[in-house]
Amino acid sequence: MTEDPPKRRTLSLKPGVQVTRPLGPQPLTPLKADRPARPPRAPRPFREPKPVERPAHGWKCKPCGTFFDPPAEGPDEEVIRCPNCNARLGIAGDFRQTPPPSRLRARPMRH
Ligand SMILES: [Zn+2]
Repeated sequence: MTEDPPKRRTLSLKPGVQVTRPLGPQPLTPLKADRPARPPRAPRPFREPKPVERPAHGWKCKPCGTFFDPPAEGPDEEVIRCPNCNARLGIAGDFRQTPPPSRLRARPMRH
């Protein structure tokens, strides 16, 4: 083993060009200290429009023809009534069946 590391040739772009930058470790202070460091802004992902899972007024009351929506959540035994004529149209569980049972007194409008 040699005590002195082998001297490497200093690479220069052109012969005769002197290196003006002081050799050695880079200074720790950033060169552009006047500008606040801003993290690189990530490109915004393209947001697809959300598909409408439950369109508004997906059902139509058979007795009076009023468009309405049964509650999306709740017990299946909940009685669904027409918001206009207050007719008992069925229970919430029946509205969630596919296809809806014929005993429902409402017509699905989304098909
Ligand atoms: Zn009605």
